[in-house]
Amino acid sequence: MQLITGKTKLLGIIGDPVEHSLSPVMHNAAIAHLGLDYIYVPFPVKQGDLAQAIAGFTAVDLVGFSITIPHKQEIIPLLSEISDDAANIGAVNTVWRTASGWKGTNTDVVGFIAPLKTMTHDWTQMTPVILGNGGAARAVIAGLTNLGCQEIHVVGRNPDKLARFYQSWSHAPNITSRLKIHNWNNLTSLIAAADLLINTTPVGMSPHVDASPVEESLMQKLKSNAIAYDLIYTPNPTQFLKLAQAQGATAIDGLEMLLQQGVAALEIWLQQPVPVEVMRNSLKDCL
Ligand code: NAP
Repeated sequence: MQLITGKTKLLGIIGDPVEHSLSPVMHNAAIAHLGLDYIYVPFPVKQGDLAQAIAGFTAVDLVGFSITIPHKQEIIPLLSEISDDAANIGAVNTVWRTASGWKGTNTDVVGFIAPLKTMTHDWTQMTPVILGNGGAARAVIAGLTNLGCQEIHVVGRNPDKLARFYQSWSHAPNITSRLKIHNWNNLTSLIAAADLLINTTPVGMSPHVDASPVEESLMQKLKSNAIAYDLIYTPNPTQFLKLAQAQGATAIDGLEMLLQQGVAALEIWLQQPVPVEVMRNSLKDCL
């Protein structure tokens, strides 16, 4: 067991709830493997208590922390600087201390594109279609923009939310110029055109493991050389990925994104390479 001393450096995650977060598992596994004197702790912080929590972190000299729901947007005014990815998305998931104050970024962007970057596709020629227009879809859009995708199609079920979603990118012309917004009833033609079909809805998560955001008859229109990417990591594979694989498509599950956003965050805090395989195995053991 790791010995905690007066010199042990603190990392952590804030959110409400945080009890189910897998981040402590993967970060502490990597820290133990590296033999470093750090510990990563979950801190439950209620909405409204965020500024107080950050002031406390400054006082106790925390090295850095992760942020989950409901604080990913509210944290921004409390930071001295944020990265371009975080500014584009309007959400921060990783914070670290600098000489001039707390700095934030959003490692979901690099986490999402990590498995895609291992492939040899010309992303400028690919047609990505994103199912859902919530928080995770924002990181996906920023990631696809960074990859060089020229058109990014987003499909949502609520026209008002979709319109607000589109407007929410008005500060980022580099993204609005490639963003195409569609209602769910346009799905038939979009599925057939998709080279990369990404599920960012929670449909198919445990316990509703037989559900798919796209019904079977429609999934049969998916190209056999398409990539289906589900951000859900449990169950693994989801029904959505099973239907895509039945068409011959390549499947990517959400575990790699979860892992790689953590890898990127830990490398920022520790300023050194981290043991990716140890972190991957710790997540798999937990799930
Ligand atoms: P969110 O902000 O609540 O967004 C969910 C989106 O899905 C919304 O656009 C919602 O539409 C839509 N949706 C929900 N139920 C639907 C249905 N039955 N049919 C069609 N659309 C539906 O959630 P999020 O934070 O983006 O997370 C989404 C999923 O991604 C979750 O499963 C989460 O676990 C996963 N995720 C994974 C990672 C990872 O590292 N692998 C990271 C982040 C998120 P409305 O707005 O109309 O309700």
